[in-house]
Amino acid sequence: MPLRLYDTLTRSKRAFVPINPERVTMYVCGPTVYNYAHVGNARPVVVFDTLFRLLRRIYGEGEVLYAANVTDVDDRINQKAIDEGVPIEVITARYLDAYHADMSELGALKPTFEPRATATMDAIVAMIGRLVRNNAAYVAEGHVLFNTQAYADYGKLSGRSLDDMIAGARVEVAPYKQHPADFVLWKPSKPGEPQWPSPFGPGRPGWHIECSAMIEQNLGLPIDIHGGGNDLIFPHHENEMAQGMCADHASAYANYWLHNGFLNFGAEKMSKSLGNVVLVHDLVTRVKGEAIRWALLSAHYRQPLAWTEEVLDQATKALDKLYGALRRAADVEAIQVGPSAAFLEALEDDLNTPRAFAELHALAGQLETATGADKGAIKGELVASAHLIGFLEADPEAWFQGAADPALKARIQGLVDERIAARNAKDWASADRLRAELTALNVEVMDNATGATWRIREKA
Ligand SMILES: [Zn+2]
Repeated sequence: MPLRLYDTLTRSKRAFVPINPERVTMYVCGPTVYNYAHVGNARPVVVFDTLFRLLRRIYGEGEVLYAANVTDVDDRINQKAIDEGVPIEVITARYLDAYHADMSELGALKPTFEPRATATMDAIVAMIGRLVRNNAAYVAEGHVLFNTQAYADYGKLSGRSLDDMIAGARVEVAPYKQHPADFVLWKPSKPGEPQWPSPFGPGRPGWHIECSAMIEQNLGLPIDIHGGGNDLIFPHHENEMAQGMCADHASAYANYWLHNGFLNFGAEKMSKSLGNVVLVHDLVTRVKGEAIRWALLSAHYRQPLAWTEEVLDQATKALDKLYGALRRAADVEAIQVGPSAAFLEALEDDLNTPRAFAELHALAGQLETATGADKGAIKGELVASAHLIGFLEADPEAWFQGAADPALKARIQGLVDERIAARNAKDWASADRLRAELTALNVEVMDNATGATWRIREKA
C-alpha cells in the first residue's frame, strides 16, 4: 500500500507522491532556544521523526532530506540574555545543547539540516528584497511588511478570508500597516538588541520569513512535506506560504502540509509530580526516554493527547511487555525478515501509530506461543518493526535493570551483597530475610557460583 498522508491545505488524505523520489524533502518548524523544551514541543519532534524514519525506509536513507530550523534570535532570548547579563549566544548555546540531548533521549534522529536564523541572515535579507521588488512587500517607518493584498490565496491554508481577519483583529493595528493582516518581515532593533545590516536599515527579521528563507536555501521550493503543530497553521504557516509563493513566483510551496494535535494538560486532574514535570529535561530523569516516546505516539498524531501520569505508566507497561517477550526469547535466533506487512500498512495509513503499536503487541503475543522456526521469524519481525520507529533498541536485560532509579538500584545492590555475605557465613536466617526483602521490592535474585545477579520483574 502506498503511503497516504492527511494534507491540511486540501483537507484530504492523499497518496504521497514526492516531486523527486530520489530527493524527498521535509521541513518542520523547530525550537526557539530560550529555555528547556516543554513536552508539548517534543510531540512534533517525535511525530516527524517517525515520518522521517518511514520515508527513509521507503525511499532510502540518503534520499530523504529533513530540515528543522533553530530560532536563535527572538525577544524571549534577548530578555533572558539581558536578565543574565550575557550575550545571546550564551543563552542559545546552552538551550540548544540541552535540546539536542533531550530529543536524543526520545530517540529522535538528527535532521539532515538544522539551519539557524543567525546563520541565514543573507538569505533572509535577499528574500525580503525580492518580495519588495515583486510588490509583495513595502517599507514603512523602518519596517518591511508583507502586503497580504498582493497574494490572492492569502488565507487558503487556514481557511480564513481577509475580511474575517479584519473583523477578528483584536490587537491595535500599527499605523504603518496598509492592511491589518500585513505582517512584519524586517524590523528595527531596539537599543541594546542584536541587529544585522540590510538595505532597509539595520534590524532583525520577523519569525515567519526565517522559515521561508531556510526552506529555499536548504531544500528549494516547492518542498514535499511541511510539518508542525496545528497552532502554527495561522498565522505562521499561512505567512510562510505567502512569502515563498510571492518571492519566487512559485507554483507551490509545500505539496503536503502536516499538522499534529495538541497535548492536553487540562482534561484530567494531574498528579502533583507530573504537573511539576512538563519539561523533557526533567521528565527524562524519572521516565525512560523510550517510554516518553511511546506515550507521545500512543494517540494518532492529528488527535489531541491527554498528557497524564497514567499515559506514561501505560507506556512503560507496554514496553515492559514487549521487552519481556524478547527476554523470554533471548536464546531464539532472530531471522532477518524486516518489519511486518501489517505494521507497515498501519504506518503508511497517515502514520497510524496506535494501530502499529497494536501490531507490535500481536507479534509479541505470537512470539510467546510460537514454536520452532516460526519463533525466529516472528522475533525478527518484531525487532525490525519496533526498530523502524525507534523502539526496543535496548538490551532486554538492561531495560529491566534500568527500570530502577539510581537510589533504588544502590539499595538493591546493597541487599544482594549483604545476602551473599550472609550465605557465605552460613547465616541462613538472615539470607532468607534479605531475600524476602528483595522480593518485596519486586527483585528476582539468581544465585551462581561466584555470588548472585538480580533483575527487576516486569510489571504485571
Ligand atoms: Zn516555521
